[in-house]
Amino acid sequence: APLFQKSPVMHKPLKTGDVIGILGGGQLGRMLSIAAAKLGLRTHIYEPSADPPAADVAHRVITAPYEDGSALIAFAKSVDVVTYEFENIPTTALDILEQHTAIHPAREALRVSQDRLIEKTYLNDLGLKTAPFAAVNSFETLTSAISEIGTAAILKTRRLGYDGKGQVRLTDASDPFEIWQRFEGLDMILEGYVAFSHEISVIGARSTCGDIACFDPGENFHRNGILHTTTIPARLSASQRTDAILLTAKIMNALDYVGVMGVELFVTPQGLIVNEIAPRVHNSGHWTQNGCAVDQFEQHIRAVAQWPLGDGSRHSNVVMENLIGTDIYRAEDLAKDNNVALHLYGKSDVKPGRKMGHFNRISAKD
Ligand code: AMP
Repeated sequence: APLFQKSPVMHKPLKTGDVIGILGGGQLGRMLSIAAAKLGLRTHIYEPSADPPAADVAHRVITAPYEDGSALIAFAKSVDVVTYEFENIPTTALDILEQHTAIHPAREALRVSQDRLIEKTYLNDLGLKTAPFAAVNSFETLTSAISEIGTAAILKTRRLGYDGKGQVRLTDASDPFEIWQRFEGLDMILEGYVAFSHEISVIGARSTCGDIACFDPGENFHRNGILHTTTIPARLSASQRTDAILLTAKIMNALDYVGVMGVELFVTPQGLIVNEIAPRVHNSGHWTQNGCAVDQFEQHIRAVAQWPLGDGSRHSNVVMENLIGTDIYRAEDLAKDNNVALHLYGKSDVKPGRKMGHFNRISAKD
């Protein structure tokens, strides 16, 4: 019997034709839908904006805002379980959905990951290292945080930041008052700058019975605050690799987590420092599509469908590269390369900074 049965509404392992509801219809919802279809399962997408990337491959799409209670209820009743592709789902929508269906991963993971202050406090309470941090909500708290933490530091919004948005770096030369004026009225967190040698992430999965499988850590390189490449294997010693996987398992066990999670880590001479956790499939896990027999999308679908997990083992070395904005025009050339697997998201509007697709370049495992 499963060890953990905390969901308010329990469900049985999904079978052919059963439906997974996904909140959000972006590229992650699209790739989750493809993975579900490969297992004979269907997805219904709930997405406020029209014609999202997942609509091409999902069984049904519900176009409605997260404030539409009756649309949420109809959606929940049409599916066997609900999951999501992004963490900023309004609490009111979750309150309604929970009355009618199980949601995986459960709300605690959203509560912790939606707010950087709660997240860092939670991780420290588990005994994991983070950057030093302090809450900021006034000019006075900003100046006292600076005297406690010093500069270099990074001021971030507690909520709704992504891809480096809602962040500013502070140096000795920064004028705290000018910086405060830019963010006045927002709840912020000041983080000490971590002098890392490189950044890695672990993509982990946990099943309803508490089984855990982690993929090999990948090494991430950002450009303009957006993930540019993930390289597998990451530069890590054997003990660093073990640490990275054990701390990911520790977080997932503490949260009684069901599904795939991304854990972003800084590698420093003092050990691994957790930057943030994402309670969903993650851009830095896209390499698994061509490096593993069971990729992160199938792994997530298996977990929420109460299927057994894949073991996460990898058969190839991979470099994943994002196609951002006009990078998409490289697709035609990339398609001629026999070691490249293209993954395009079907987005017709090319905009700067927009994730249009990615590709995985595979080579023999070393
Ligand atoms: P985040 O939105 O928190 O993932 O931050 C985006 C990127 O900014 C990270 O991937 C790091 O490259 C950098 N960064 C964020 N926080 C810190 C920190 N405390 N120290 C050093 N670099 C950071």
